[in-house]
Amino acid sequence: MAKRFEIADKRLFSQVYICQRCNAKNRLKTLKGAKCRKCQSKSLRLKHKHLKA
Ligand SMILES: [Zn+2]
Repeated sequence: MAKRFEIADKRLFSQVYICQRCNAKNRLKTLKGAKCRKCQSKSLRLKHKHLKA
């Protein structure tokens, strides 16, 4: 069962980016030329990804 959730998780979050300025969620296929839909900031990060602090 755990594996099932993992897969669903991946599908849900792999293409979701969070704006680092206003924290809006942006669903994008690529970061290339991507902008936040709310504030047009280009500072986006993947919602679920290992990030270096
Ligand atoms: Zn934003």
